Amino acid sequence: MPEQLQVLKALQALDRERRELLLQRQQLDEEQGRLQGDVDRVQAMVDSLATAIEACQEVRRELLGKLEHERGLAARAEGRLPQIKTQREYLAVLKEVDAAKKQIKELGDLVAAKDRELEGLTADKSEKDAELATLSEQTLTRRDELAATAAGLDAGLADHGRQRTDLTERLPAALRKRYDMLLERRNGLAVVEARDGACLGCHMHLPPQLFNRLYVAKEVQSCPHCSRLLYLEPQA
Ligand SMILES: [Zn+2]
Repeated sequence: MPEQLQVLKALQALDRERRELLLQRQQLDEEQGRLQGDVDRVQAMVDSLATAIEACQEVRRELLGKLEHERGLAARAEGRLPQIKTQREYLAVLKEVDAAKKQIKELGDLVAAKDRELEGLTADKSEKDAELATLSEQTLTRRDELAATAAGLDAGLADHGRQRTDLTERLPAALRKRYDMLLERRNGLAVVEARDGACLGCHMHLPPQLFNRLYVAKEVQSCPHCSRLLYLEPQA
């Protein structure tokens, strides 16, 4: 077998392994992406609950402020009552007190409603906080495993890259280009065996004179049907 063919065969074996490694690497990246996506999704829920709690607390603070104000009004009006001389003025101040008390009641109801809302939001957030903590912990372990596997694959790929350079340097540029093109177009199978007068890549019969040339030619021959590069296995 011409030396170039031996190099091509070794290169193809290497490239097929490399494809497998790259596929595994891609699957790792996808899993890492999915894990991060899961964490991000729960984190977004936690953040949105925290925002809702803050907004609710802000409204509650405003209501308490108004409540305080109305209580002050009611107390001041009631304080004025003993000094009042006329019936008319007395009735007017009583009306003020009633109005303030009505406001106090309404505001108190609103505060109570906000308290219930806050309670619900806080419970939801506690639940999501716990979910996030569990998920983060699980993810962390799996991420460490993935990172270790990825590092191993990357080292393997770097090693393949070096071996590939060594091999391709032993091929003429035109042949290397032909090989690369075939590898891509023929789904990772650029170099194939010729046996019993046929190409084992496309299973078509080879012209007899081409088949005979495989025994003697120093140059690499290609299949006239699928263009793959042909080699002969030594006879048993
Ligand atoms: Zn063929």
